[in-house]
Amino acid sequence: MLVSPHILFNHCYGKYTIAAVNVFNMEQIHGLFAAAEYSSTPIIVQVTPVARNYAHPTMIMAMIKAAAKIYPKVVFSIHLDHGNETHALDAIDQGYTSVMIDASHDDFESNIQRTKTVVEAAHPRNVFVEAELGVLSGVEDDLSVAENHAKYTDPCQAKEFVDRSGCDSLAVAIGTSHGAYKFSGGKGLQFAVLEKIQQALPEFPLVLHGSSGVKRNDIDEINRLGGALLKNASGVTDEEIKKAIPYGICKVNIATDLRLLWTKVHRLFFAEHPDQFDPVVPGKMYMEAYKTFMIERFEVFGSKGKASALKLN
Ligand SMILES: [Zn+2]
Repeated sequence: MLVSPHILFNHCYGKYTIAAVNVFNMEQIHGLFAAAEYSSTPIIVQVTPVARNYAHPTMIMAMIKAAAKIYPKVVFSIHLDHGNETHALDAIDQGYTSVMIDASHDDFESNIQRTKTVVEAAHPRNVFVEAELGVLSGVEDDLSVAENHAKYTDPCQAKEFVDRSGCDSLAVAIGTSHGAYKFSGGKGLQFAVLEKIQQALPEFPLVLHGSSGVKRNDIDEINRLGGALLKNASGVTDEEIKKAIPYGICKVNIATDLRLLWTKVHRLFFAEHPDQFDPVVPGKMYMEAYKTFMIERFEVFGSKGKASALKLN
């Protein structure tokens, strides 16, 4: 069942968090919906502009709608991740329940105005709007931000930003980063900043981007099989995610971990079966591994079993 993030966040605030997972292809959509149905877990399916360009906006939406029929018990929202105004308006027309306008690289006033423009288009059509304040390091789509140009969310600006822009949730920069190069500086999440943001915006849903775990074993395994990924990369720990939930983190974005999983499954398969060339065989293995991975994430996020507790209708 397709629902607004309002329903999900009203239920989870302070108690558990919703996995928001980026999808690019059919295998990932199957893996995600299969895991959500198995665990009775509400999810946010999210799509970046790059994913829309890769699959085609119509194709990716059609696959998500097909998944909703194949896995009818799944409670989910469809969210545009890191869009601009054009992407957001297009996603609203396509039936997304939620859009992110990312003007976080602009100055404060421009970020407010651009977010407000999207809010004014989205709210009359009951579409939820996520905005971002602060700048994460790393690579998201085609934008790269060096670690020394990243900027934590300023708690003093957070309330003014939300009041004036009218956004429904806020992505905060508190030390996470995009891509498989997380935390190479080893600083971890900044809970003192997060606490101040929550005090400024009590009961307001906050979003954590760049929250893959990036397990060392997976990086080592990929490199052993011929990969050349950064060895000292590490992501957000399970303990950090759990600790962030009472501070109002209602949505945790995951993309990198599922890309690493794709790489690991395929590198391993072709290393062990150099004579094979059928995409169906490793594709099935990836879907299974994806499902198993997400079921374990839902446990950590505390969202397992919560789809039935939502009392929809
Ligand atoms: Zn992001």
